[in-house]
Amino acid sequence: MYEKITKTGENLHVPNRIIIPYVEGDGVGAEITPAALKVVDRAVSRAYGKGRSIEWKEVFAGSKALEKTGSLLPCETVEAFREYLVGVKGPLTTPVGEGSRSLNVTLRQTLDLYVCLRPVRSFRGIVSPLREPQKVNMTVFRENTEDIYAGIEWMQGTPEALKFMNFLSCEMGVSKVRFPQTSSFGVKPVSVEGSERLVAAAVEYAIKHKLPSVTLVHKGNIMKYTEGGFKRWGYDVAERRYGDRVFTMRQYSEIKNRNGENEASKALEEARHAGKVIIKDVIADAFLQNTLLVPEEYSVIATLNLNGDYISDQLAAMVGGIGIAPGANINCLSGHAIFEATHGTAPDIAGRDMANPSSLLLSLAMMLEYIGWDDAANLIVSSVEKTFAQGFVTCDLARFNSRTETLGTSRFAETVINNL
Ligand code: NAD
Repeated sequence: MYEKITKTGENLHVPNRIIIPYVEGDGVGAEITPAALKVVDRAVSRAYGKGRSIEWKEVFAGSKALEKTGSLLPCETVEAFREYLVGVKGPLTTPVGEGSRSLNVTLRQTLDLYVCLRPVRSFRGIVSPLREPQKVNMTVFRENTEDIYAGIEWMQGTPEALKFMNFLSCEMGVSKVRFPQTSSFGVKPVSVEGSERLVAAAVEYAIKHKLPSVTLVHKGNIMKYTEGGFKRWGYDVAERRYGDRVFTMRQYSEIKNRNGENEASKALEEARHAGKVIIKDVIADAFLQNTLLVPEEYSVIATLNLNGDYISDQLAAMVGGIGIAPGANINCLSGHAIFEATHGTAPDIAGRDMANPSSLLLSLAMMLEYIGWDDAANLIVSSVEKTFAQGFVTCDLARFNSRTETLGTSRFAETVINNL
């Protein structure tokens, strides 16, 4: 009998036969999702024989849902992700400008999936724009529920925008809006709790995986109370909750001010030697430059929603593009998690058996690791590594390397299965 994954307290309970809901997705979703699920089934059976297996429960969102139910995101889909705790999602079309909000953002906010987790690493055989892509090994924790992405905005010229402008000028004494009558407005909420839980998840991940540092990436020099708050509350939670398992650069500065630079450097060296996680911070623009110049200086990254969106795609491009970048949206407290393709619906290649299934496939490997089925996860990752090293890639990667052989979505997935 197939059962649900559940969580009590800190513990995830994963039966040997589990039900996992999935959304196939729009565009290339119809090609990559079945291909990736098939690889997972084979890897699970390879790792555990008949001892473990997954029943995939299809739920609907996007255009398939609209066709079947008249709604882009039916309640049953959200409820299935809530009930079964762990789920999978292919890419979904987001209408630009007017109309409904992003389905991805709605799902993340409804289930309060506050961590967007994006590991970024290089693969042998994949051409990168960097000279030394093997130096890139970062895991991005992007805050998923707050920031300018909260969806609180008003179009210029509407009564709401004019009312908001009126409130700003009459009640808040704001005179800095350059064109008050024709401005649209967006609100950027960043809270203590939201920042702390995201940074705590990043620090815990670094401690668990014995990683050297967590870097808080922010624009606190300009947005002092929102991005600056994120940095301050990030340091606060790291020092308060993780005590002697971390050493923060704020502590470094305090020692430097009190006892001079030599003492501070000595304390930092001792902390490194003792295996403590170093918590540091950097301004977002400098960070983006540094990721290209000195990527080896960064390990775990904790950042706000908009910064995290840009950073994740840039880092992905540094190691081969979003076609191979995995991702997950997680609530570390409730255990809810949706593992997803990080790219979009790729309408330009949809329906042509050209899409790279690796982003979703590597996300599914993350899912298997998340539920503790590490052997199956490792099988998938090493099989993808082997496939790339053999020179088999999809068209998105082949265009950068003439020595590879281009496979379609289904043949690529079959090659990965053969390499398991
Ligand atoms: P996109 O990611 O769909 O495509 C950008 C480029 O990357 C295209 O050239 C595409 O062919 C290529 N590409 C993407 N995935 C690929 C894959 N697996 N294999 C090979 N090549 C791949 O971004 P876009 O064109 O800006 O957006 C298209 C739609 O997807 C929009 O509606 C957008 O809102 C949506 N979108 C959804 C998500 C999501 O569901 N998480 C993420 C990004 C964009």
